[in-house]
Amino acid sequence: MAANFKFYNTLSRTVEDFVPRTEGEVSMYTCGPTVYHYAHIGNIRTYIMQDVLIKSLEYAGYKVKRVMNITDVGHLSSDADTGEDKMVAGAKREHKTVMEIAKFYTDAFFKDFDAVGNKRPDIVEPATNCIPEFIHMIEVLLEKGYAYVAGGNVYFDTSKLDDYYVFSSAVEKEQLEVGVRDDVEEDANKKNKTDFVLWFTKSKFEDQALKWDSPWGVGYPGWHIECSCISMKHLGEFIDIHCGGVDNIFPHHTNEIAQSESYLGHEWCKYWFHSNHLNDQSGKMSKSKGAILTVSLLKEKGYDPLVYRFFCLQSHYRKPLVFSFEALDQAAGAFNKLVKRIAELKEDGAVDTSVVSKYEDDFRDAVSGDLNTAMAITLLYDVLKADTNDATKLALVESFDKVLSLDLIAHAKASKEEVSVDPELEAFILDAIERRATAKKAKDFATADAIRQELLDKGVEIKDTREGVKWNLI
Ligand SMILES: [Zn+2]
Repeated sequence: MAANFKFYNTLSRTVEDFVPRTEGEVSMYTCGPTVYHYAHIGNIRTYIMQDVLIKSLEYAGYKVKRVMNITDVGHLSSDADTGEDKMVAGAKREHKTVMEIAKFYTDAFFKDFDAVGNKRPDIVEPATNCIPEFIHMIEVLLEKGYAYVAGGNVYFDTSKLDDYYVFSSAVEKEQLEVGVRDDVEEDANKKNKTDFVLWFTKSKFEDQALKWDSPWGVGYPGWHIECSCISMKHLGEFIDIHCGGVDNIFPHHTNEIAQSESYLGHEWCKYWFHSNHLNDQSGKMSKSKGAILTVSLLKEKGYDPLVYRFFCLQSHYRKPLVFSFEALDQAAGAFNKLVKRIAELKEDGAVDTSVVSKYEDDFRDAVSGDLNTAMAITLLYDVLKADTNDATKLALVESFDKVLSLDLIAHAKASKEEVSVDPELEAFILDAIERRATAKKAKDFATADAIRQELLDKGVEIKDTREGVKWNLI
């Protein structure tokens, strides 16, 4: 067990030593996607960095149990309970039912989530599975005097708390208070501007598709209550780490803490892990600005999704990261070079265990020190340059990849196969690729397709990528 696993805790605003409630075990909760649309690559960056956190904890000897929700009801277009219901808007946009939309975008989310090397959470729970739990928590909050019914809805009363803005400094609190006061849409039912909805009944959404019976009438839950309930359902009254993006800090996580701790009567989660935004050159990535840049789209453009992971690992999770295709091309070039160097390593005898443990210690220190992923990658290059045999280097690549999850050994193997092909076959392949390019240029797609088939018949698969045509034996 590593003595000091540290990361930045948003609650204390410092890099802190991590001490879980049960020695050696970590309970972790992650806010999942609202499945009304695709997750863009900025959303996926957040999940990559959480995956690195989990695997770094595992590398340091911890056992991690992680729960994630799927928001398929209750999330409005503003996180502060105003605007349209995102799921209903998604269903209208695509002329589908809310459940069809939820299923489609949940599947799309996990396709991209998996493609970048992330491990699935131990438990994934859609909000619509937990309606009785939401109702129970709201009943208790009403009984304890932390909630009230107004205009048919149930609200959390933030004035009952001594410290509602738990994540914020005095200056930030003032700014947030002004921000909340200036919120364009006003809900006349609220006693305080920061109060939030626990249960909607009389809402402006007459066509809300999903409704359930409750003590307050037919309706549906608010967004924030989901995470508190789903976390407690699977992880109990305490969690060690709660994860999300920085945009979740206020109001979502602030509200989660307000209702959870009022319900429980004690502290709920000690460590809050937030990763920063991915920006494109025009500003923050968003789903409202035209086409959504997804991992699947990167793949269609010929990028390996793990190159995107590699790109993310090169910078620190607490810093905003600027995305551009030029930067991704650079990452792709570096990744391919790295893979080639690994492909040159040979199984040349015994692994030197003392060298392995020295580098493993350094690597553990890097990732245990507030997830210094850039340093972790530098160490990988150091290993490749080190004065030791190839077998030892390969053992270390495999070891580091438990956290990096770049599938380095498999990529190296694939690139070796490309190199060690029979020269006659290789000449044929290169010629065929050339002929296909000529046919495509002349818009003779029938010939181009026939050449692709000709190659397939010889067991060669080709792929068009941004770096040109790639081929491999199948
Ligand atoms: Zn959440």
